Amino acid sequence: MKAPLNEPQMNDAVINLLDLDRKGLEQLFQRLGHKPFHARQVLKWIHKHGVTDFAAMTDLSKKLRDELQARSVIRLPEIILEQPSADGTRKWVLGLACGNRVESVLIPDGERTTLCVSSQVGCALDCGFCSTAKQGFNRNLTTGEIAGQVWLAVHRGGARLTNVVLMGMGEPLANLDAVIAATNIMQDDLAYMLSKARVTISTVGIVPALERLREQSDVSLAVSLHAPNNELRNELVPINAKYPLEALIPACREFIKNDKRRKITWEYVMLDGVNDSDRHAKQLIRLLEGTPSKLNLIPFNPFPGSLYQSSPPERIEAFRQRLLRSGLIAITRKTRGDDIAAACGQLVGQVRDRARRQLATLVTGEVA
Ligand code: SAH
Repeated sequence: MKAPLNEPQMNDAVINLLDLDRKGLEQLFQRLGHKPFHARQVLKWIHKHGVTDFAAMTDLSKKLRDELQARSVIRLPEIILEQPSADGTRKWVLGLACGNRVESVLIPDGERTTLCVSSQVGCALDCGFCSTAKQGFNRNLTTGEIAGQVWLAVHRGGARLTNVVLMGMGEPLANLDAVIAATNIMQDDLAYMLSKARVTISTVGIVPALERLREQSDVSLAVSLHAPNNELRNELVPINAKYPLEALIPACREFIKNDKRRKITWEYVMLDGVNDSDRHAKQLIRLLEGTPSKLNLIPFNPFPGSLYQSSPPERIEAFRQRLLRSGLIAITRKTRGDDIAAACGQLVGQVRDRARRQLATLVTGEVA
């Protein structure tokens, strides 16, 4: 197996402490010759209290603070722009090293406040209905850049987060090590205290990575299905050619098999005249038979140059009713933040494309 991309490089002079979850911090302190319990203190200072100045970490000895100051940094993405939507949604454009930009979106909804987080600069998967795909791909985000989006929403944006979804730019399962460490931080009692049900990873379904995710982490799963048969899914979600439905569906079942109450959330973008007929609904019902499922129907959000149109509301509702009649749970996702291009599939950031269309090598490389 390849070395994890985000493992702290101990020979590097400076470590970004945001890149480390509790275990990573414990290892760091041990390697520096200190007691591992300092990990708990530092995690709490950074993520619970929002402190990035070592001098303010008053329960650490002066000597340890000085050492951390000399050897490490707490480096966050830079907020380039904050955009409020008329519906209360807020989008942050975040600047990273090397001039790339990613976006995160805060979505208040009654009792719930959800942060939609990016996991890559751009995306290499090339789904034709997604504007992030049109940007091409530059690189994976580090753990610190993923967890940093949560830090910024809470400690700069004043958000009282109840949920995090990895549904922003990028494919989380093509950046698995960083994503797992970042979700560990989100779920840590000394950090953001989000339970398994409150951290959701959305994926096209990279099957070997799903297996590792199941073994190494404890999150909820949303899978971008978008089509009820391989022929159409190959067209809409090209990675399906590598991980077709007959591999994906059993892997998803396996993911939830130890928890009777758990369901897979299937995302299904409603494309006018493409995947929204009664025949498609019927195929979908057959495909998901025996899998505890919840369908999330997403009205297609247009973007400049997009070739698709959303199914009309009455078609979406007829499709949903067809699913409901078969006993499936199906809801239509509310479109939020579309006036500021913050809705599903509209996030673009600023991507210096380095690897457009290299999806096969990228995906194989990351999860092998
Ligand atoms: N790569 C991951 C997460 C990012 S996208 C994934 O594919 O799941 C989050 C969701 O928005 C996915 O279900 C995606 O298919 C959907 N989406 C992408 N473009 C969209 C668009 N233009 N309109 C509506 N939903 C879109």
